[in-house]
Amino acid sequence: MNEQQYVMAIDEGTTSTRAIIFDHDGNKVAMSQQEFPQYFPKPGWVEHDALEIWDAVQSVISNVMIKSQIPPYKIASIGITNQRETTIIWDRHTGKPIYHAIVWQSKQTSAIAESLIKDGYKDVIHQKTGLVIDSYFAATKIKWILDQVPGAREKAANGDLLFGTIDTWLLWNLSGRRVHATDVTNASRTMLFNIHDLKWDDDILKLLGIPKAMLPEVKPSSAIYGYTGDYHFYGVQIPIAGIAGDQQAALFGQAAYEKGSVKNTYGTGAFIVMNTGLEPTLSNNGLLTTIAYGINGETHYALEGSIFVAGSAVQWLRDGLQLFEHASASEQMAVDAKTTGGVYVVPSFTGLGAPYWDQEVRGAMFGLTRGTNRGHIIRATLEAIAYQTRDVVDTMVKDTQLPLKALTVNGGASRNNFMMQFQADILQTPIRRAAMEETTALGAAFLAGLAVDFWHDQDEVKKLSKIGDEFMPQMAEDQANQLYQGWQRAIKAAQFFSRGK
Ligand code: ADP
Repeated sequence: MNEQQYVMAIDEGTTSTRAIIFDHDGNKVAMSQQEFPQYFPKPGWVEHDALEIWDAVQSVISNVMIKSQIPPYKIASIGITNQRETTIIWDRHTGKPIYHAIVWQSKQTSAIAESLIKDGYKDVIHQKTGLVIDSYFAATKIKWILDQVPGAREKAANGDLLFGTIDTWLLWNLSGRRVHATDVTNASRTMLFNIHDLKWDDDILKLLGIPKAMLPEVKPSSAIYGYTGDYHFYGVQIPIAGIAGDQQAALFGQAAYEKGSVKNTYGTGAFIVMNTGLEPTLSNNGLLTTIAYGINGETHYALEGSIFVAGSAVQWLRDGLQLFEHASASEQMAVDAKTTGGVYVVPSFTGLGAPYWDQEVRGAMFGLTRGTNRGHIIRATLEAIAYQTRDVVDTMVKDTQLPLKALTVNGGASRNNFMMQFQADILQTPIRRAAMEETTALGAAFLAGLAVDFWHDQDEVKKLSKIGDEFMPQMAEDQANQLYQGWQRAIKAAQFFSRGK
């Protein structure tokens, strides 16, 4: 192993793309980041242009190479981590997508998900895929595109169209259109993948009319998928050797390798993942069973609860309500407010995930008085993110019977110290924030580095994953529980209102 080499991670998020170069000690050497456009064609729909994403990825790669001055032959391998479930179908001959990428939180395929539930497929799909039927996963999005785009289904059956989540799309393009593959973590989020026998499920494919010919090959998360194409890195062929969906990469980057370890990533949404070891645990309470990572011939499983709206609630305060200019200002304004003045904000703009799984509920505010001001609303919105986390963590503890010892956190919104302290208070548990903000990218780098023996084993990378700040609970348990009960009433009321529409 050469100490002067580096690993590059591409972290393709929901709102922006990053390329980060890490050295052998796991330090960030250089980073480039770029936002890309979001499209909202109808209420509840969210789309991206996959070509714009590929352009952004190419530009962050070249920017980070220029910035770092590292020659391409010193990059030992490349890892990819990505916004999961977002679905792209493209023509394998032209490389052009036949429709925009349908983003994970987009609601345009809700009717397909509902009809699957109505037709009684809930249990069988949960058994096979570990997932709760929802428009969130790729399956209904693929069907929708095949139904909407004229001639698509025939082309797909002929093998002219390829499906991919973002990782697959980037791998295909980065490898000079040579490799059409994905990893087990991304496959486990399609609702088409059998998590027990680790194969695409023929019954589900048939049910949705999805031709197998369009699906990528599924590999472990740490493996050499292929090499970069001739037009990138001046022809130096760098192995693309790690892939994991963003939440799984965050788990891996936080070195949560032991059974029972839990992490929460506060990004656009918030994602709580518990490593449950080598056997899948099916939840009775609406949590998802998913693949944590595949490495060294073993598949590790996880239990996951997702909160659709977390940091995006802060974006709403910023852009929708125009209460401040930068997300970071929310912290001081919440502290200055001192209390919420009894206000609860339920930011369920696109329905509620675990443990509620209510697609119809919309957002609400409760407890307004003549004295309510913007500080109260900001503080209540930040608190809502912490309450939703407790909803999920409580459910996880119930399902696994494993006690919560601490929560490791990362993601853009975890920078908010007020919110992290409130999280520690409301969970009555220490919150450990990763020292490095980019643990998601670090996880992809670990996977890619382990596959090429840049790092030898997980014990070695575990030492490189460091904790920064720790927030200890300061609030009395009674008070925390009382506040949380108010939140539970607010959720019920929001659900009641939305059902009455
Ligand atoms: P993603 O990977 O999903 O794009 P990031 O991890 O980059 O998300 O986090 C960005 C999100 O975090 C945004 O929704 C933003 O509003 C929120 N955010 C960033 N900084 C703060 C902060 N200091 N306080 C609260 N929210 C924040």
